[in-house]
Amino acid sequence: MLRSTFRIAFTHILVLVAVVPIGAGEKQARPRTENAIVVTLDGFRFQEFFGGADDMLLNKQFGGVKDLDGLKKRFWREKPEERREALLPFFWKTIAKDGQIFGDRARKATTRLTNGLKFSYPGYSEIFCGFADPGITSNAKKSNANLSVLEFLHEKPAYKNRVAAFCTWDVFPWIFRAERNGLKVHTDWNPVKDDPGTDRQRAMNASLPFLPRYWPDNCFDVITMEYASEHLLRHKPRVLYIGLGETAEWGHGRRYDLHLDAANNADRYLAELWQTLQTLPQYKDKTSLIITTDHGRGDTRVDWTDHGKKVPLAEFIWIAVLGPDTPGLGVRENVETTQGQVAATIAHLLGEDFVAASAKAAPPLPGVRGK
Ligand SMILES: [Zn+2]
Repeated sequence: MLRSTFRIAFTHILVLVAVVPIGAGEKQARPRTENAIVVTLDGFRFQEFFGGADDMLLNKQFGGVKDLDGLKKRFWREKPEERREALLPFFWKTIAKDGQIFGDRARKATTRLTNGLKFSYPGYSEIFCGFADPGITSNAKKSNANLSVLEFLHEKPAYKNRVAAFCTWDVFPWIFRAERNGLKVHTDWNPVKDDPGTDRQRAMNASLPFLPRYWPDNCFDVITMEYASEHLLRHKPRVLYIGLGETAEWGHGRRYDLHLDAANNADRYLAELWQTLQTLPQYKDKTSLIITTDHGRGDTRVDWTDHGKKVPLAEFIWIAVLGPDTPGLGVRENVETTQGQVAATIAHLLGEDFVAASAKAAPPLPGVRGK
């Protein structure tokens, strides 16, 4: 009897300890999230994200489509809800049901970048540092002046050497200023260095020289996906960022068919990754997934290939969140958000306060933690 009373009292103390203040008078239980996986699809438009394949680009002239019948069979459906589900089944059947999606302009839930430049380095810096830095004006390999949420976590003892980034594009080490903080950032056509390498890593490394270097500064998504998956299985990072680039590259190349295939492949990769996570004790029910894009693209059949300061609507993006702390509100309504909110959201889901470390960072997305 005494013992059980003690146990009840003790439990109460634990509950009290687990409650941490997060703002003025607001208290929130510690999150269940212990790991975060962040994925970006470079330059993937809100138009396809919310509406699936775009009719105006399903042709040779503006979309550069080679096998139109095959493409339509894969991704064309009568209704936009069917089209987006055919293109991105994991996003629309799983995340839109069990998680949350931001950026639907039709529901007064616009998500926009605030850097005004609408290209990659400013976008990724805004995503990971939490604000637009007017000093970043190009994609040049210059070390970022700002603290990223990855570096912020990497500097904490609980995350030391348990944060990693795998990216198709070769500028990421500068965006994350990896030479300064020692963050693990693998990019582009580099073989993975792991000692000793696994069979899968060795096989991937051996295949690299035989692949066409179609974009010298950006490798195929499948390479980065494979390396990232193997790193996850082997090193069990607490924070893993996977930066995919093919949606952007095929967009610039006016290949709408390959652009859609790249998005569909990313979706399938995410579905398989999510399934794998639920089989691993470290990750099962303890991992949040945050997915977004660095910028949009043009809205017309001529400029859909392009983005940048002068391209209308390329400032509109989308964000998806799934995990044990995120209520399944689906597509969010009446909530305006910005790209910079991603950084603090990643930390917030892990129970960390990025805004306290970087005052300019935007606050976490509202309502993503609180299940
Ligand atoms: Zn980009």
